[in-house]
Amino acid sequence: MSEIKPDELLNKIDYAPGSGNWMDNTASVQIRPGMYCYAAKAESVETLGLPNARPWNPLEEDWKLPDNWQEIVFQGLKERLERFRTFKVFMDICVRCGACADKCHFFLGTGDPKNMPVLRAELLRSVYRNDFSTAGKLLSKLPGGKALAGARPMTLDVLKEWWYYFFQCTECRRCSVFCPYGIDTAEITIMAREIFNLLGLNIDWIATPVSNCFKTGNHLGIQPHAFKDMLEFFVEDIETATGVNCTPQFQKKGADILFITPSGDVFADPGTYTCQGYLILFQYLKEKYGLDVTWSTYASEGGNFGFFTSHETMKRLNAKMYAEAKRLGVKWILGGECGHMWRVIHQYMDTMNGPADFLEVPKNPITGTVFENARSTKMVHITEFTADLIKHGKLELDKSRNDDFIMTFHDSCNPSRGMGLLDEPRYVIENVCNHFYEMPPNTIREQTFCCGSGAGLNAGENMELRMAGALPRANALKHVHEKYGVNTLGTICAIDRAALSTLCEYWVPDVRVAGVHELVGNALILPGEKKRTENLRFEPLPGVEEEDDE
Ligand code: SF4
Ligand code: SF4
Repeated sequence: MSEIKPDELLNKIDYAPGSGNWMDNTASVQIRPGMYCYAAKAESVETLGLPNARPWNPLEEDWKLPDNWQEIVFQGLKERLERFRTFKVFMDICVRCGACADKCHFFLGTGDPKNMPVLRAELLRSVYRNDFSTAGKLLSKLPGGKALAGARPMTLDVLKEWWYYFFQCTECRRCSVFCPYGIDTAEITIMAREIFNLLGLNIDWIATPVSNCFKTGNHLGIQPHAFKDMLEFFVEDIETATGVNCTPQFQKKGADILFITPSGDVFADPGTYTCQGYLILFQYLKEKYGLDVTWSTYASEGGNFGFFTSHETMKRLNAKMYAEAKRLGVKWILGGECGHMWRVIHQYMDTMNGPADFLEVPKNPITGTVFENARSTKMVHITEFTADLIKHGKLELDKSRNDDFIMTFHDSCNPSRGMGLLDEPRYVIENVCNHFYEMPPNTIREQTFCCGSGAGLNAGENMELRMAGALPRANALKHVHEKYGVNTLGTICAIDRAALSTLCEYWVPDVRVAGVHELVGNALILPGEKKRTENLRFEPLPGVEEEDDE
């Protein structure tokens, strides 16, 4: 938790503009503890086959860069400008209108002007103008021309400033919703981070999970037997709560559906309750309709921290899910509650590793619904699947079991802005809970505020940054907590289940976090279940204590 108390953090926010040209104060940028993430460990960088693996410390003067680092940055930019048309367009078309300026949670939570999306992009754009744009090159020859062109050369101070601020962007894309030109600052951050990787400048919270994924198939480095053991613990807990054994299948060749979820659901509370919800749902569907779902200890990660490293690394991590689907001969893939996993699937997978023609267009075998939206990726989000089952009256649910959950819903940036998954989670929540209240409209759906910890920034050492970035989301949550007594923040992202728990503890301590399928697991009436007296957290169900007293 941040050493700075919430009141102190609030008092530090200063929106007063600084004086002078922002380009002149680059040298004074201080990389401050609490605001940055530790450097990637050399062994993790080595595992990924990325260059310049060595121990280094962002607080030290010498970052141990290759001698030709400026040439590497120049070539890296050049290649990306040629390869990614959007990047080139985004470099050229910003009119600096400022519509995005106050839309970033990091600017709102810190007041630092370099956290305005427009200025974050200018950090890189200024070098682009200096090295690549004709106007920038011409104007730069005149006295005072560089300032006029908004151009500056690449120096070590500029590189350090880039590193500091591009690791203060969660690639959430809220700014792009408000830009009249659709400029996506997240994409500029992605390019900057690719360039950092050419120099060995990744952060450890990204590089080590990716390295773990290369070695064991998941970010947490869980070995296959431990992954299986964890699910077996959940089976025991579910049996205690429901009296029903929900033992899953692993690596079943010829199963109808392969289920893949982020490893955070298997190893970290409160995601573990969400995972139990999946197991209960699959047991119900097997008993009632013969649904054949398999898990895999090989494709044991839905998340993709490669996305925060480079397109190439993202592609490698994404590929294993499809390789496993092919090996097992399943019809299609069902994906769990995750954030960036869905951005990768929805926006990149098809042209990156697809089309996955060896799989079938997903069709719900129970309702007959064909998921046309997944025609190319062959992968369906579990809230789409469950919403479809509810819509067709295929689930027997007792909403009252969730009466102690006074809900609101946090739209995670990637499923909402990245794939438009806005209504299905709400539909499921409203069918398994009696109490649901929305946060204010300008903080939800496409305009949702980030948790402040996405895109690999969910580390422990940058807690001041995370809690500052969490402030806008926390404000909206506090509002519904005070107005309606909301005590639970629902979400469909594994990073969020961890990050929002910390956010709540810091800003709104009486609110807890729950995945949507935890609520499904509580409400679903399993065939053969015993009289349920506790929810999946082993808390007494509403009304049970009174019954006991009688
Ligand atoms: S809203 Fe778009 S055009 Fe306006 S300053 Fe921001 S990025 Fe530039
Ligand atoms: S993508 Fe999100 S974190 Fe990054 S600049 Fe835009 S609003 Fe801020």
